[in-house]
Amino acid sequence: MVDANLANVRKTFNDGQVIAVDDIDLHIEEGELLVLVGPSGCGKSTTLRCIAGLEVPDSGTITFGGHEVTELPPKDRAISMVFQNYALYPSMTVYENMAFGLKMRGADRGSIDEQVRWAADIMEIGDLLDRYPNQLSGGQQQRVALGRAIVRDPALFLLDEPLSNLDAKLRAVMRTEIQELQQELDVATVFVTHDQEEAMSMGDRIAVMNAGRIEQIASPEEIYHDPNSLFVADFIGSPSINFFEMRFDGNSVVGDEFDIQLPEAVAEELRNGLPGEDVILGIRPSNLNITEPGTGLIDIEVEVVEPMGDTKILYFDVGDRRVNAVVQSTEQVTDGDTVGLEVEWPNVHFFSPAGPKVVKWMHATEGTVPGTSSPTDDGVRTDGSATSVREEEG
Ligand code: ATP
Repeated sequence: MVDANLANVRKTFNDGQVIAVDDIDLHIEEGELLVLVGPSGCGKSTTLRCIAGLEVPDSGTITFGGHEVTELPPKDRAISMVFQNYALYPSMTVYENMAFGLKMRGADRGSIDEQVRWAADIMEIGDLLDRYPNQLSGGQQQRVALGRAIVRDPALFLLDEPLSNLDAKLRAVMRTEIQELQQELDVATVFVTHDQEEAMSMGDRIAVMNAGRIEQIASPEEIYHDPNSLFVADFIGSPSINFFEMRFDGNSVVGDEFDIQLPEAVAEELRNGLPGEDVILGIRPSNLNITEPGTGLIDIEVEVVEPMGDTKILYFDVGDRRVNAVVQSTEQVTDGDTVGLEVEWPNVHFFSPAGPKVVKWMHATEGTVPGTSSPTDDGVRTDGSATSVREEEG
């Protein structure tokens, strides 16, 4: 088992004009599945290619298990990589495709056969070994590509958007299969995707990339519940988080549509951390609740109701901003209804307009207490461990 470490890795293209990877530090722990996620062009693939040895960084060092590999060619790195387009050799059978890398390494026929059949067994493709790639479905081809990758017994497993060519149902199946495979192999794995849902469902940890940098690296839960920047809050979560541009007056946040009086502990963090008076509140759709008119932060008309099975997405226009809330499908609410909107405290994120989070999110341990319109200081803790802000108003 090895870990991998990137220290200050930088990679540019076009004589330095394109900064693909901007001095990143990244540690992939032994046996973990780390997902690199971010929008198109943020540098995910280049980072992975540097780890694989397909690109050599301009500066910085890469080590596997403490040994420097920064300039080693891919073949000397004990890595296996799986790409989006499977990259199977069309003129070889499944068996030959899987055996190819081992043959190149000079393995003997007996051990090749043993390894191929072991991997075929794990990937459940034992009955496809005599077929050619064009006789396989997309899902089968990807399974062969994964099988081919694991026969090499890699120290590090690298996957670059391996599920992008599969339909939604098969993707979901393959996500689970890759997780199971990764756990069984117990090998450090980096999985690249632009799909935040895929990242959330697969990663032990997620590294969110933006413009060549890593914005945040943490567990899926932490990334979702405690995004450390506007970018991460916006990128992770579906439907998207709601943002409200407001003003902090020392005790409350004040907006065009509603105000929230803050617990003193939160106000103090804002007084200490906010560079000016402008503040952006981020509230996830599942943390906006509907109430009887007159009892929430504001009364508002429901513009659209979108049934999603167990839940419904409600859309509202708050000022010139479209806001959405996710409620249980059992809520009796239809288009055109007027409802109250309230916030499930403490699930309110405070960001500086420049991007960083200002107040550390505080976990609610005793169930969340809805409403924020007149909180008291009771129960607010700023150490990130627990809070209950106020009793529900009668
Ligand atoms: P995607 O999800 O679209 O694959 P990505 O996050 O993997 O994107 P990269 O492929 O790593 O992003 O690209 C990062 C930046 O580097 C982009 O601006 C891209 O255009 C640029 N880039 C990548 N490879 C090269 C190259 N060989 N020559 C020039 N520019 C490159």
